[in-house]
Amino acid sequence: MGAQIEAEEAGDTGARRAARRDEAVRAAVEQGLLGPDSPIVGLLDVTGIRESAAELRAAFEAVVAPGTPVLHAFAVKATPLVPVLRLLREEGLGAEVASPGELALARAAGMPPEMTVLDSPAKTPDELREALSLGIAVNADNPQELARLDALVRAQDSRSPLGIRVNPQVGGGSIEALSTATATSKFGVALRDEGAREWVVQAYLDRPWLTRLHAHTGSQGIPLALMARGVAETYALAEEINRRTGRRQVDTLDIGGGLPVNFASDATSPTYARYARLLAEEVPGLLDGRYGLVTEFGRSLLAKHGTVVARVEYAKASGGRAVAVTHAGVQVAARTVYAPGSWPLRIAAYDAKGRPKEGPTVVQDVAGPACFAGDLLAEGRSMPLLEQGDYAAALDTGAYYFAHHYGYNSLVRPGVYGFGPGGRFAVVRRAQTVGEVVAESGGAQVDALTQARWEVP
Ligand SMILES: *Cc1c(COP(=O)(O)O)cnc(C)c1O
Repeated sequence: MGAQIEAEEAGDTGARRAARRDEAVRAAVEQGLLGPDSPIVGLLDVTGIRESAAELRAAFEAVVAPGTPVLHAFAVKATPLVPVLRLLREEGLGAEVASPGELALARAAGMPPEMTVLDSPAKTPDELREALSLGIAVNADNPQELARLDALVRAQDSRSPLGIRVNPQVGGGSIEALSTATATSKFGVALRDEGAREWVVQAYLDRPWLTRLHAHTGSQGIPLALMARGVAETYALAEEINRRTGRRQVDTLDIGGGLPVNFASDATSPTYARYARLLAEEVPGLLDGRYGLVTEFGRSLLAKHGTVVARVEYAKASGGRAVAVTHAGVQVAARTVYAPGSWPLRIAAYDAKGRPKEGPTVVQDVAGPACFAGDLLAEGRSMPLLEQGDYAAALDTGAYYFAHHYGYNSLVRPGVYGFGPGGRFAVVRRAQTVGEVVAESGGAQVDALTQARWEVP
């Protein structure tokens, strides 16, 4: 497909997505999911999620040799919601997990162990033992973790495919906090450090059960070319290991996730197809059928299919600036509020009936409900004036936003609803109640500090 046709298709997909979103906001207001007593919700576009999953599968199918095993393990941290994981499982995806909680979510969604990968940088012996007894793939982050695996592999039979995570140290992107392949990143074995490459090769020579190699070169802010270089370095290392062991010991490469998301418009860009083609150009040997593949995309699968919609409780002016005080702020958009330069979000304005707002644009702030001055979803943004009773929608928030609640001011977690064709909704996660907030905040231990005996247990 030509680049231009592809761009147009991505634009069309984006326009259809925007139309579905508008329909969902209107239906949410009409049906009372959103209103004076329910001033914030998260909405998930089920059609869009299915489309992205299908695009991911098709992109890699188009470039790998026929019969190549490919597992797309969704990075659960991007959207840790059980019904979402179940939907992705139905779309043929697996799960990449990085904590006991994420593993439990994947299992609750019915993810089969052979489609689950465990990657966290701080796995305890118990977590490793559980993963091995379930048969889940594990990538060891460092030599100390590999030593733990040595002991477990001796002690228990396991079907778990095991590998080592390396950091190809190809450099960072525009967001330091999400750049995993810098010289001093905390992740994996830093390949270019003195002696490290030889240590990795020797680790495989000593352990015939190490059959995978893993790298994740970073997330949002990493240019595609840098991602491809990280994959190329990892592939070169796998080839070296297999030459030195004299057999195809490394049979699967886990190339991580990290496809950046376009937060500036409705277009999907870059596409999975473009990344897969780039890999085919830069690392053809990776796709020729000698290696199985694992990918771990998160943000790119979900971000554009989620919307936070919040009611404008008050519209005011301050120092000549229009300020819409809404119910969406730091609790659902921590990254944007604390690092607005790195994480700007588009805000769409809807009227009190949930219809897109038109009219002259006004420079305004879109503020959240939390009690600190910086709790702003957008600052100095030109858009149709938000008035009391209107709705502000934070777009592209399906990953790392409303599923990443931040408990500031004890604000409740909003309900999350999936929407399908015809303005119908399904509860993905019901809203947290104030009673639950009290219970989770030590409500049952009310006398713990006043009646404590301070005895050594
Ligand atoms: C976060 C993470 C991912 C997913 O990254 P996205 O940018 O959401 O695609 C994949 N693999 C690992 C190891 C990660 O830590």
